[in-house]
Amino acid sequence: MQTPKAIIIGSGIGGMATAIRLSVQGFDVVVYESNDYPGGKLSVFEKDGFRFDAGPSLFTQPQNIEELFLLANEPIEKYFNYESVDISCTYFFENGKIVTAHTDQVKYAKELVDKLGETATGLKKYLSAAEKLYNNIGVIFLNYSLHKSTTWLHRRIIKAFQTVRLSYITGTMHEHNSKRFISKEAVQIFNRFATYNGSNPYKAPGMLSLIPHLEQTQGTYYPKGGMISITEALHQLAIKKGVKFIFNSKVSSISHENNKVTGVVVNNDFIPANIVVSNADVYFTYKYLLNDNTHSQKLLGLERSSSALIFYWGINKKFNQLGLHNILFSNHYKEEFDHLFTKKTVIDDPTIYINITSKMEAAHAPDQQENWFVMINVPANYGQNWNEFAIEARKNIINKVNRLLNTDIESAIVSESMMDPVQIEQKTGSFMGSLYGTSSNNLFAAFLRPANFSTQFKGLYFCGGTVHPGGGIPLCLKSAYIASELIKKGTKKLFIQH
Ligand SMILES: Cc1cc2nc3c(=O)[nH]c(=O)nc-3n(C[C@H](O)[C@H](O)[C@H](O)COP(=O)(O)OP(=O)(O)OC[C@H]3O[C@@H](n4cnc5c(N)ncnc54)[C@H](O)[C@@H]3O)c2cc1C
Repeated sequence: MQTPKAIIIGSGIGGMATAIRLSVQGFDVVVYESNDYPGGKLSVFEKDGFRFDAGPSLFTQPQNIEELFLLANEPIEKYFNYESVDISCTYFFENGKIVTAHTDQVKYAKELVDKLGETATGLKKYLSAAEKLYNNIGVIFLNYSLHKSTTWLHRRIIKAFQTVRLSYITGTMHEHNSKRFISKEAVQIFNRFATYNGSNPYKAPGMLSLIPHLEQTQGTYYPKGGMISITEALHQLAIKKGVKFIFNSKVSSISHENNKVTGVVVNNDFIPANIVVSNADVYFTYKYLLNDNTHSQKLLGLERSSSALIFYWGINKKFNQLGLHNILFSNHYKEEFDHLFTKKTVIDDPTIYINITSKMEAAHAPDQQENWFVMINVPANYGQNWNEFAIEARKNIINKVNRLLNTDIESAIVSESMMDPVQIEQKTGSFMGSLYGTSSNNLFAAFLRPANFSTQFKGLYFCGGTVHPGGGIPLCLKSAYIASELIKKGTKKLFIQH
């Protein structure tokens, strides 16, 4: 009998991590990818001597990547190196205040006391509550399927529920933060963590206040070579473990018989498999690969996470007041989220994120210049006029950068590219250009997000940012863990027969 075969649809971070895990389990693994490169949203490009990570820029929880190398019994340092970063972000406010978020808690507390009139114990209490919440609830959410009864019939659940304060469930993240910080600036800084999964802090539950634990306590990291080195490392590791990648190959359907997956169709060829894992957006998987209108219609009922408008600017001078991660905050934060999620438009005073990897590696820009990744949150694509939005947003971004950094930025832009939600969908197959699948704007969002397995077809599984536990690199890597553990349990017989 042949080695059991697994097909992965898509080589995003979740797909590659699943491929590595399944090859370690003994599967013959093939990844079909519609692009001519691996990594999905985690890609890179160069223009006019500037190098840009096209998508993600913040790297937390490197242990998820270390775990894959341990599992594969390969030395990580041969493939991937990273360092911790002392300053997780520098925040600029319209009132002239500038706050440096040190990852050292004592230094950060002093900064919040000196600049914003907070108390050192306030930060300590907040972060230790976030840690407790993460250790008791977050860890369950990240490591187990919420759609299996075995997850719920365990004593860890009782302990987890004992930790849950009513305010985590009944109040929004903004309400939670407003009760714990004195200044509106500190509340805004901690509200911002809702955007880490494309959500609205004025709607998302207080439960999301565990997110700062990851960045502030567990730490912020920088992968040597930029974020693309995560893609490169996992791609190389997968190849080393025998995974085959077939690029420029879009899967057009998932085949099944008697409620059991039998393989996929690629370029009109049927490719048989025992297991199929879709790393493609789950909406597209149901709608086009399974031709299943019932499930895809249900997904349409869930609110999409935010998307992004990104300008990649080559800047012909250096800005010493900026670091690797910088935020220029909107002075109208609540209205910004009303625009994103209710009006589906872009406010004229958007919060601007600027990532500059040449601060870490000078070679990413020509001498004495900087590579600016300038991003604002925008709604998912509902058919808005993105050309108009981009022209307006560019003007507003330039005005705000000039105001807050006291400069004339337009005259310093020597190279420019742009990406909007329509291009994000075209390049990465993300429905409506959402960065993180569905939003977490209500308490039940986590339970409504699709499971990592199909209840309809045996042998069909899902990973990546659009299924449980959600978007962002750490969560996508966890989806690979959950899916492959479910596969391990569900396929014992295959290997016994073999
Ligand atoms: C601008 C931007 C900024 C972000 N910032 C951060 C950040 O700072 N930190 C962070 O952690 N996360 C961030 N994210 C989110 C993060 O990038 C994603 O959550 C994550 O990379 C998604 O990985 P995935 O496994 O879901 O696969 P994806 O990256 O979505 O890739 C899916 C792959 O499947 C392929 N595919 C789809 N359909 C088919 C088919 N039918 N046949 C074959 N192949 C197919 C696609 O071509 C694609 O390569 C950001 C995303 C973007 C776009």
